[in-house]
Amino acid sequence: MKKSVIQPNTIVDAVSELDALLSSDEVFQQDFNLARKQLEHFLFEAVSHHIRNNKYYAHYCDRLNFSLSMLKNDLGKVPLLPSAIFKRHTKYVQTTQDENMLITTSSGTQGTISKIPRDNTTLMRFFASVSAGVQEVLGIEQSELHLYSLSPSFEEVKHLWISYVLSGVSVYFPSRFYVSNNVLELVKLIDDLRQIDENKQDLTTVLVGPPALILDATRELERTEGLHLGDKCIIVTMGGWKSRQGELVARDCFDERIARAFGLAGEQYVRDVYNMVELNTVIFECSEHRKHCPPWLFVRTRHPRTLEIQPSGENGILGFADPTPRSYPGFILSDDFGAVYEQVTCPCGITSDIIEIDRRVNKLENRGCALKI
Ligand SMILES: [Zn+2]
Repeated sequence: MKKSVIQPNTIVDAVSELDALLSSDEVFQQDFNLARKQLEHFLFEAVSHHIRNNKYYAHYCDRLNFSLSMLKNDLGKVPLLPSAIFKRHTKYVQTTQDENMLITTSSGTQGTISKIPRDNTTLMRFFASVSAGVQEVLGIEQSELHLYSLSPSFEEVKHLWISYVLSGVSVYFPSRFYVSNNVLELVKLIDDLRQIDENKQDLTTVLVGPPALILDATRELERTEGLHLGDKCIIVTMGGWKSRQGELVARDCFDERIARAFGLAGEQYVRDVYNMVELNTVIFECSEHRKHCPPWLFVRTRHPRTLEIQPSGENGILGFADPTPRSYPGFILSDDFGAVYEQVTCPCGITSDIIEIDRRVNKLENRGCALKI
């Protein structure tokens, strides 16, 4: 099989170009087609890097008769690793060797734990991508942000990815944590929220946590007395319902109920974000409740049987090609279903692919909201 020859200086340039993109202003406002062309370049370099440095991935690509030239105008050809690989063969998916490698893990509530090796470059890019999403998609300036996190503090977190992400974000913002020894400190949280309600502070409070814990706080407010936070608070849900699948609430009912209990200025103050342990990028929702695919990420859905790429808007298995991880191939066929709407111009001002996740869909979907609440 013939592979394209990469000049070393090209690789260095591509690395710094990707880092420059992640830390640049208005990254979501770039021209869509130019950004896609740039992504083709980043993915070409990233796939090439993992083929050269990861024997397992190189062998996998060989078996698929893949060659780098196939990526020209067709990013759907990036060979995706099924996420199950990360549950079984961690050492085989590791591309770079680094003493400071952080092995991040999934919660494992749905079976075997995934272990993802992240080096410093990979982690720094992850947090750069979070920062861009917070500012441009959530629409919050970092200087205005005060984070209330329904997760353990940084010291308490081992390597559980969602907790790591939630606590890691605290490096950038003044933060408080409300989970200790796996228990949500509900009384303390509600007390602190009532303080914000009374003190007219200028900071935007972002309350972030798994949906089940946000629901616990909502129930407590409903049981006692609701808040009147208006536009001073944004509530961000992250992660699935895990062991509390039975309490899952349909999205529109959930948003309405949260907005009412917290006294938010509208349901646009409730946002969901998507991430999984294998993905080095967080996908944020805008004020229109649309999840904008960032310009450094390529996402398509695949037919569950043939794995063919589905047309825009068709449901299928979500497949991600993320050039940001250096220590493992960020080319993942996920376990999640959803749809990708290609090149949508959203009223929020961003033109991007829009990702819909079906993770929250449940069997009660056809019944009234009241039944689920
Ligand atoms: Zn939007």
